[in-house]
Amino acid sequence: MKRIMITGALGQIGSELTLFLRKLYGSDQVLATDIRRNDSEVVQTGPFELLDVMNRKGFYDRANQFQADTIIHLAALLSVAAEGNPLAAWHLNMEGLVNALETARELQAKLFTPSSIAVFGPTAPKAMTPQETGLRPVTMYGVNKVAGELLNDYYFHKYNVDTRGLRFPGLISHTALPGGGTTDYAVEIFYEAIKNGRYTSYLEPGTYMDMMYMPDALQAIVDVMEADPLRLKHRNAYNVTSMSFSPEELAAEIKKYLPAFTMDYQIEPVRQAIADSWPNHIDAAAAKKEWGFSVQYNLTTMTKDMIEKLSYKLLP
Ligand code: NAD
Repeated sequence: MKRIMITGALGQIGSELTLFLRKLYGSDQVLATDIRRNDSEVVQTGPFELLDVMNRKGFYDRANQFQADTIIHLAALLSVAAEGNPLAAWHLNMEGLVNALETARELQAKLFTPSSIAVFGPTAPKAMTPQETGLRPVTMYGVNKVAGELLNDYYFHKYNVDTRGLRFPGLISHTALPGGGTTDYAVEIFYEAIKNGRYTSYLEPGTYMDMMYMPDALQAIVDVMEADPLRLKHRNAYNVTSMSFSPEELAAEIKKYLPAFTMDYQIEPVRQAIADSWPNHIDAAAAKKEWGFSVQYNLTTMTKDMIEKLSYKLLP
């Protein structure tokens, strides 16, 4: 990767990935784009341009002018937002991806597309969900991600586009808030615990899902993109995860630092149904074997770091 263009760069992943890549590859080498503009560090510390990924010509022109050799395509509608407006999700998640693939094909650029644990449906094994298993999701987001994985494979086989991807679990971070996913509680809980000492969980106790702390997710993106292509048996996308926990286990961990913290429950049926259809814990063996996937953070070290960083940010 030398000249990297990112779409949806002001979202939860992009607002940290852009700065991470600028440190590694140089500020001028990373073009951040999004459909909106704000006054964040992403906009202020390097090239930034407005781009609606639904605009195929605009997509190609931005990437071509920047002479991008790598495209990181993050613009998307996430699981809960997609259930609220399935057709809008279909249009953005699929047309945006096709425009990214076509641009990558024309420029012979590498393409990173995140997939998700949402590709698995209720019929996939819940524990140690394998890399290869039946993908029958029951959410529009999951349908989009499966179709996206297949399209990425298709462009690799048919046009030799260097497509790569990761099936991310819920990502926990302290910079930008998550954008409408089922795992958002695992970020919101920290803000509420520090500001108000209490949190109302929208998921039932005992609802297990995979999670990963953002620094590990950023490193995994760089590692899979820099991996020797001859070692990659899977293209889009690799199972990756660092931890699996339920709301009450996360609450118990937070209580170790904030003893007065309490949590109650008000279940939201839409989010609970999505969570119930996803695995409890996926198996990342293929990512470990084929490109050396590894993580630094577990539940204990992630919780400590989140509380330290967010207390500094939120408390006077
Ligand atoms: P986000 O919702 O936080 O950010 C998405 C960004 O896309 C926003 O800044 C938004 O302004 C931008 N956007 C929306 N419509 C656009 C358009 N038409 N053109 C250009 N930009 C547009 O999302 P995120 O959490 O950063 O996720 C990025 C990718 O990673 C998505 O593909 C998502 O499915 C995937 N993913 C995220 C998680 C997670 O926990 N955050 C987990 C698994 C997979």
